[in-house]
Amino acid sequence: MNLLIMGLPGAGKGTQAERIVTTFNILQISTGDMFRLAIKKQTKLGLEAKTFIDKGELVPDEVSNGIVKERLAKRDVTKGFLLDGFPRTIKQAKALDTMLNELQKKIDAVININVKPEVLIKRLAGRFICRNCGATYHKLNNPPKVKGLCDRCGGDNFYQRDDDKPETVKNRLNINIKQSQPILDYYKKQGLLYDIDGNCDINLIFTDIKAIIKNI
Ligand SMILES: [Zn+2]
Repeated sequence: MNLLIMGLPGAGKGTQAERIVTTFNILQISTGDMFRLAIKKQTKLGLEAKTFIDKGELVPDEVSNGIVKERLAKRDVTKGFLLDGFPRTIKQAKALDTMLNELQKKIDAVININVKPEVLIKRLAGRFICRNCGATYHKLNNPPKVKGLCDRCGGDNFYQRDDDKPETVKNRLNINIKQSQPILDYYKKQGLLYDIDGNCDINLIFTDIKAIIKNI
């Protein structure tokens, strides 16, 4: 069973991915891990990728695709995989189809964890920091015990990093939506897309995912 998992930042993709691979005993393949491994093992493609990363540039498609293909061709992939963080573009999605075809494999389902952008903004933009001692809090998950006062130092002066500000988070989400929508459409056309309601409890989300996977 070969799966793709998709979802916007903050949608809880990581948590669900972990549960899927443990429950169904398949391999998690995340782009980040693949790159780190290829660089660590100093494979030809790994070294090539490193020259771009070191310069702060985007790794070109042919290098990324090569790294993914190398990984998917390994023997431990035979029991199935969950791909995370790839493809990021239609071009990569098509390249993935080609490489899987060559390896006589295919994607069985694409699981998209769907969370309303407003909810994501609340989750992602909730972080704030005590200006006096640097303690970090979150409006939803981890507010100070006494409202407006830092648990650690009693200070009452807080700030948000630019990255955590609602406007920044909104922009980041919009870019992500623009990038991922064509990929979701691509898999939808092939009848592979499963939209999961990710607005509810983590356990309920996983129950939905399990039901879909068992039906494949
Ligand atoms: Zn403090």
